[in-house]
Amino acid sequence: MGWKKELTLIVQCQSGVSKLRFDEPLSKHTYFGIGGPAAAYVEVNSIGELAAVAQLKRRWNVPVAIIGRGSNLLVSDAGYTGIVVRLIGVFDQLEFDGNHVHVGAGVSLPRLSKTAARHGLSGVEFALGIPGSVGGALIMNAGAWGSSFGDVVEHVEVMTDEGKLIRLGHDDAGFGYRHSGLNAYFCATSALLQLTSGDVKTITDCMNTLYQKKIASQPFAEENSGCMFKNPPDNSAGKLIDECGLKGYRIGGAKVSEIHANFILNLDNATAQDVLELVCHIQTCVKQDKGVDLEMEVKLLGFEYGTNSEYRTIIA
Ligand SMILES: Cc1cc2nc3c(=O)[nH]c(=O)nc-3n(C[C@H](O)[C@H](O)[C@H](O)COP(=O)(O)OP(=O)(O)OC[C@H]3O[C@@H](n4cnc5c(N)ncnc54)[C@H](O)[C@@H]3O)c2cc1C
Repeated sequence: MGWKKELTLIVQCQSGVSKLRFDEPLSKHTYFGIGGPAAAYVEVNSIGELAAVAQLKRRWNVPVAIIGRGSNLLVSDAGYTGIVVRLIGVFDQLEFDGNHVHVGAGVSLPRLSKTAARHGLSGVEFALGIPGSVGGALIMNAGAWGSSFGDVVEHVEVMTDEGKLIRLGHDDAGFGYRHSGLNAYFCATSALLQLTSGDVKTITDCMNTLYQKKIASQPFAEENSGCMFKNPPDNSAGKLIDECGLKGYRIGGAKVSEIHANFILNLDNATAQDVLELVCHIQTCVKQDKGVDLEMEVKLLGFEYGTNSEYRTIIA
């Protein structure tokens, strides 16, 4: 029996809620709308099922990638040779207890933000305009307007490669700027957030104001994956790219946004190759004109060469 057969059996043993598809186009599961097929795509519904996938990964040595909403991902045109897992069901639940909320990794950030506001809880107002999941926000330490997701995390639950759940306190999660240490584990499954109680109207107004500011200053109409580059220390990647005259610069179907230069848009059936060539062009221009190295914020999936700098030497 191969790993595909075993994966099918794992899914069949569950309640029937989970979805399994082979050769699933990942362009359907990313905000960029780019990416070839995954050998297998499964929506996992329970802890037991997730643990079975972790064990299958070890037994067959098959690559597994957990994705959230795909809002910070660039998937290669060739796709992914392993299993792509998305968390649904028990992972898509929120539970409030006083100022705490226990939130599954599959919950969307806008839902978390709006539900917390309705409960009169402050701390995640910034997250309404971030179209990711709690899992993605934990891995990326997503943030905006001076707040980051890690700031409100009391502890995180992760699954190990052996399929065991362990709890990590805030200080063990390794939160940094658009980074955490949680990708060392098989999967982030949930988090306990400590929020602050306040007035529902004040919290809701703050959340809506931040959202309006965001949609006025960033592109939301076209497919993209958020900020392509991390801001260098004490600098703005968007400003540097703009000052290099790159707003509107286009390679194939990929274009630098004219609204915010740190966003690359999939304007017209862009390929991952178009996007990465544009990324390399931007990095080269900013290095030459400003002497600054821009590091990608967006995560790559399915590229034989792990990092952008390795990829750069391939397409140069
Ligand atoms: C229009 C737009 C605006 C955005 N604005 C912001 C912003 O203001 N601030 C900001 O920080 N980001 C922003 N982003 C980027 C993105 O929304 C965030 O990084 C978000 O946290 C990613 O979540 P996701 O669920 O989409 O993760 P994905 O893109 O699916 O995955 C991101 C990474 O996390 C990993 N991952 C996801 N879930 C898990 C899990 N449960 N366990 C282990 N690994 C996991 C994936 O393998 C991948 O490496 C924006 C994106 C868009 C498209």
